[in-house]
Amino acid sequence: MIQFTDVVKSYEQGNVALNGVTMQIEDGEFCFLVGPSGSGKSTIIKLITGELKPTSGTVHVNGYSLERIRKREIPYLRRTVGVVFQDFRLIDKMTVYENVAFAMRVVGAKEKEIRERVPYVLELVGLEGKMGRHPREMSGGEQQRLAIARALVNNPSTIIADEPTGNLDPERSFEIMALLQEINNLGTTVLVVTHAQDLVELFHKRVIAIDDGLVVKDEGEEETNDEAE
Ligand code: ADP
Repeated sequence: MIQFTDVVKSYEQGNVALNGVTMQIEDGEFCFLVGPSGSGKSTIIKLITGELKPTSGTVHVNGYSLERIRKREIPYLRRTVGVVFQDFRLIDKMTVYENVAFAMRVVGAKEKEIRERVPYVLELVGLEGKMGRHPREMSGGEQQRLAIARALVNNPSTIIADEPTGNLDPERSFEIMALLQEINNLGTTVLVVTHAQDLVELFHKRVIAIDDGLVVKDEGEEETNDEAE
């Protein structure tokens, strides 16, 4: 579960990025986070991953309290949250297989687990035939799938995708959103940060809209219980 309560985040220069954000995303939800450039979306992601601490208010993520988390606990928090970065952050000198295997090695997985798990996640994202390729030999959509596979491989309970369709044509964008939906159907909580209003409308999911550091809209199919009743 991701829970923000009255979260204010000001940067050192005095910029107030979040101005009292309260929201809750339950386990198993699929949710879009939308808002114009500069509205605070990246700040929300960084608060979820422990890269930043709130100035005031509380942030709870998968059992961790981020406002008071210790440095040595952050790697454990991060195993519960897979992030698909906007710029992918793939390693070009490694193959597709190795890029995903590497994410397991850094958390100390055994070779046997790696040999079983990597082909499974590559198949899930539709890259089973491309394990020996290098990222630069792949299309943007395939690189996005690889980034998703890597985010998934350590079996996080939550996936955050930052502008996953930013550089894709409409058809590939739809396929990537459908893949994220499939991952959600398998039980992973999915938060998609996006500008793609047309896609958001197609998927009929919960949408949290922020503007100027505030939640200005929170509505959709997967409403919290007290709103739905
Ligand atoms: P978004 O991801 O929606 O574009 P951000 O979370 O990046 O928005 O930014 C929200 C606000 O915080 C903006 O006004 C931005 O200029 C400011 N901001 C973001 N990062 C920093 C930083 N490292 N230092 C100072 N101000 C920042």
